[in-house]
Amino acid sequence: MRRKLAAGNWKMNGLSGSLGEAVALAATHPAPGVDILLCPPTTLLDRMADAVHGSKVAVGGQDCHPAVSGAHTGDISAEMLADAGAGYVILGHSERRADHGESDALIRAKTEAALAAGLVAVVCVGETEAQRDAGETLAVVGAQLAGSLPDDGVTGDSVVVAYEPVWAIGTGRVPTLEQIAEVHDSLRAALSARYGAAANAIRLLYGGSVKPGNAAEIFAISNVDGALVGGASLTAADFSAIIAALEAAPAA
Ligand code: PEP
Repeated sequence: MRRKLAAGNWKMNGLSGSLGEAVALAATHPAPGVDILLCPPTTLLDRMADAVHGSKVAVGGQDCHPAVSGAHTGDISAEMLADAGAGYVILGHSERRADHGESDALIRAKTEAALAAGLVAVVCVGETEAQRDAGETLAVVGAQLAGSLPDDGVTGDSVVVAYEPVWAIGTGRVPTLEQIAEVHDSLRAALSARYGAAANAIRLLYGGSVKPGNAAEIFAISNVDGALVGGASLTAADFSAIIAALEAAPAA
């Protein structure tokens, strides 16, 4: 059985005053029935880890460099994230693929670095609207998945896959439930073909305009094991409602 995961991606949002949202979230969910993760900007990572220490809220980074250390000005290694208190790292988010030209090969190298540092890698895939309109969705996400994951070390404890249609992120637009189910079933099949029985334990998150009002119907889809949430993870009230919907969802 896969333990569900509610993951929040704060992106480039949040100052010191925002730490109270993480503290409030932890206080609201002292014994959650699902895993809870917040990924703040790196500037808040160690302070958030301290603020929620001892609670059921985990913290993670939003990116890492594939190298352990070295001459890479402005970059952060997976080991540094772990040292700051992270247990997870988001990799291959579409905003990084678009803004920084990240390739599947680079994301794979980052994933390997994350696993070597003991972090759980949340690896993102997703099609653009043009790709969906062209009927290329399954081919695109399948290729991203194949290229972004390493051959070794991929288990339910080390990797989470997030399906995030680019056109649904931050737009208020969401695929139909059938479209989400089709992609998640396809990802599960691809993982099983590559990793065998171990793939059954890998959690598949949906991401893209998940809100308190649509979370329950998305979480009722088989092979949706949780969500990667952007805007609605910024406040404890909204994210808490999504967590509650996930807790109430059918078991995987
Ligand atoms: C995201 O940042 O991964 C995301 C899904 O954002 P939003 O929930 O705001 O669409």
